[in-house]
Amino acid sequence: MKIICIGRNYVAHAKELNNEVPSKPVFFLKPDSALVISNRPFFYPDFSRDVHHELEVVIRINRLGKGIREEHANRYFSEIGLGVDFTARDLQSEMKQKGLPWEIAKGFDYSAPVSGFLPVSRFSDIHDLSFRLVLNGKTAQEGNTSLMIFSFERIIAYVSQFMTLKTGDLIFTGTPAGVGPVAIGDRLEAFLEGEKLMDFPVK
Ligand code: MG
Repeated sequence: MKIICIGRNYVAHAKELNNEVPSKPVFFLKPDSALVISNRPFFYPDFSRDVHHELEVVIRINRLGKGIREEHANRYFSEIGLGVDFTARDLQSEMKQKGLPWEIAKGFDYSAPVSGFLPVSRFSDIHDLSFRLVLNGKTAQEGNTSLMIFSFERIIAYVSQFMTLKTGDLIFTGTPAGVGPVAIGDRLEAFLEGEKLMDFPVK
């Protein structure tokens, strides 16, 4: 199982980090060892002093596919949920400056908590889903999938040109604006269309 993460998929977030708005999807991978399920705690790593939350809508791939055409891409996922793409922003900035890969900033243990998944059929339009991160009782991030630069289908088509997608692969589809630091003792709650899907502590 692999975890594919899309970067810079919301204009306001690309701008808050002074990044260019991309003309094609930017993606990177996290290892399966980054995964956290069932609202287990996020353990703050000792190698960073600036870990940020990035709340994202996550889709789960339900069949094997390679070179998938965008018009067929909706057949390759049937479940949707939320995840937090935890990012060691201090390490990421250092790697970006040096033009080096981001893995140590993005792929560390516990860096990919995900919620349970809901059937796509439960929503009238997955291209218009609101989602929200509440940090210690206050809304920290709010997004809507209608604001994605690259749709779920476009992402699947793009990524599957380069790597085969397999059943169980997860795709984090990018974070909206409002990313910021977390600290030990924080509580994170995440909502999709008003329904609470995640509630976990930082330890
Ligand atoms: Mg992200």
